[in-house]
Amino acid sequence: GRMPDASLQNAPLDVLHRVFGYSDFRGDQAAIIDQLVAGGDAVVLMPTGGGKSLTYQIPSLIRRGTGIVISPLIALMQDQVDALRAVGVKAAFLNSTQTFDERREVERDFVAGELDLLYVAPEGLATPRVQELLRQGEIALFAIDEAHCVSQWGHDFRPDYLWLSNLAELWPAVPRIALTATATEATHRELTERLGLRGAKHFVSSFDRPNIQYRIVPKDEVRRQLVAFIREQQAASVDAAGVPVPAAGIVYALSRATVEKTAEFLRAQGIDAMPYHAGLDAAVRAQTQARFLREDGVVIVATIAFGMGIDKPDVRFVAHIDLPKSVEGYYQETGRAGRDGQPSVAWLAYGLADVVQQRQLIDKSPGDRAFKQRMGHHLDAMLALCETVSCRRVNLLSYFGQQSEACGNCDTCLAPPETFDGTVPAQKLLSTVVRLKRERNQQFGAGHLIDILMGKVTPRVEQNGHQRLATWGIGNELNQAQWRGVVRQLLASGLLAVSDDGYGTLVITDASTAVLRGERRVELRRDVHESAGRGSTRAA
Ligand code: ADP
Ligand code: ZN
Repeated sequence: GRMPDASLQNAPLDVLHRVFGYSDFRGDQAAIIDQLVAGGDAVVLMPTGGGKSLTYQIPSLIRRGTGIVISPLIALMQDQVDALRAVGVKAAFLNSTQTFDERREVERDFVAGELDLLYVAPEGLATPRVQELLRQGEIALFAIDEAHCVSQWGHDFRPDYLWLSNLAELWPAVPRIALTATATEATHRELTERLGLRGAKHFVSSFDRPNIQYRIVPKDEVRRQLVAFIREQQAASVDAAGVPVPAAGIVYALSRATVEKTAEFLRAQGIDAMPYHAGLDAAVRAQTQARFLREDGVVIVATIAFGMGIDKPDVRFVAHIDLPKSVEGYYQETGRAGRDGQPSVAWLAYGLADVVQQRQLIDKSPGDRAFKQRMGHHLDAMLALCETVSCRRVNLLSYFGQQSEACGNCDTCLAPPETFDGTVPAQKLLSTVVRLKRERNQQFGAGHLIDILMGKVTPRVEQNGHQRLATWGIGNELNQAQWRGVVRQLLASGLLAVSDDGYGTLVITDASTAVLRGERRVELRRDVHESAGRGSTRAA
């Protein structure tokens, strides 16, 4: 850094005005900047859109030397650097996408003291070449972005981050700032520990995004539900001055195939939707991104890769048509809505198949037992958020260790779900599972279980003689959608499990025994099915 004309012009607020063109600091920004300018360390937990970048960019301009920014988002480095250069900041990056000559030029500039900011990927920093380079120049500070990636218990662990624990020893005099937009209390503790930031000042902003309305609905025919949701959003959309404007939104799905199919379906319904995933040509992706940023009313259907670092303030809705793997992921993705502070909606459709699929993905993943257990805990927390009968926001914030009051603006606050005593249906279902388990080498999923309970005579029921089961036809008090709701909720609460046979067979758990014995009551929520028309309610 070092702004050309020293002292007077070097107050953080002056830099904010002169370089970035903003009038005031937001939230903790000024305090964080003061801490770094004075040579201290900082740990910053601030939600997406909170303004983390300026907290290390401005100190890098004020302090002598170059600010080294460690960021795992290689794809975004070019954009970030371009944006900084556009306002006259001398910024560059080093990563694996560059040619030898490009790297050489950046290295020369750094050593010559001609860079304010240098972005490097964590895997690059761990190499002797980059470490040697850093020793030859002057460093203003280290900024560790996405610092939750150092946490082995978090949802986004990256082994390369572990090397960053060496920074404190190698450069004891250089201030460090670790930043993240998602951290539970455990992750916060762990990253502080691992990055050697015990002496740092901690700046923890509220994670509440009060302008985002959270809605989680049971999945019936998801694409039709999605169209209805998007139409509703687009009809309601006005800008800050109250003028109608087509709403932009992001729809997240897990697989590329779903992304493609969904985008096509939406287009056929007259919605200006475009697919985005890593399998598409880079030029196509860039074009899609540019349209999304510049035009009104574009809906991007994407895998989760989309949105990192995309700074579009007026995204009016984020929809998930597949269940996110963790609350951290959900929070990060929904956080891309409403960065301008205007009312926005986070909508998630989720169903039984999501739970089964996610449990299977965990089982099949190559990780060890501890890894699978961790992923299982992440999923459980996500399921608890989906199934809660109280305020979504309270549940979400408490996951990040923050207390709050019922928000009055989420779906469960606006229409508190009814609950009912589901002990008897749960017992019927569980005892069917127990009976089927006696038949070796047979895989029966939820659909077949429900057919048995509802007394259907399908080919599968006939082939296996399942009309003869004592539980055949004893479940007519609920319809199919309601039974699926029961299965989903039992799975979510650990009273049922998906076996690791790879076929999605349902099995009972230790906890189920108490229900079967009548020692444990099961409280279930009555799902409100959107497909049955607004406001109508069907049980389970
Ligand atoms: P984060 O990294 O926390 O998600 P960014 O640093 O990308 O957030 O900032 C989000 C947006 O807010 C950007 O468009 C940024 O330029 C803007 N911004 C940040 N600080 C201020 C401020 N003090 N005044 C006005 N706009 C700001
Ligand atoms: Zn609420």
